[in-house]
Amino acid sequence: MHQATYGTLYSAFCIMATKLPRQKHIPQRTCIVCRTTGAKRGLMRLVRDGEGRVSYDATGKRAGRGAYLCHLPQCWEQALKRGALVRALRIEGLQAEDTEALREIAQRIVVEATGMAAS
Ligand SMILES: [Zn+2]
Repeated sequence: MHQATYGTLYSAFCIMATKLPRQKHIPQRTCIVCRTTGAKRGLMRLVRDGEGRVSYDATGKRAGRGAYLCHLPQCWEQALKRGALVRALRIEGLQAEDTEALREIAQRIVVEATGMAAS
């Protein structure tokens, strides 16, 4: 009885050991501008929906092609102004109101990141 239990436990342990990945796979998130990876301070996900509209995805789970941006103001600037976001999301271009909405988010991020109120 004791041996059987031990054997069962041992094989269960072996199965677990072989099934445990040596390195946990973390979905790679990279800022589309500066190429910062990982979730040090958390990358922000922007998502493109079926109509090509782009918005900030606070949950990070919305369906659609996503792109990540870090908290650096210059990354948002480049993403919106120099078309990094357009390229990353493979869209023709950003709609004016989407750009406006993303700019507002970028403003909030800057305020939060620097702890300074926008004046
Ligand atoms: Zn960045």
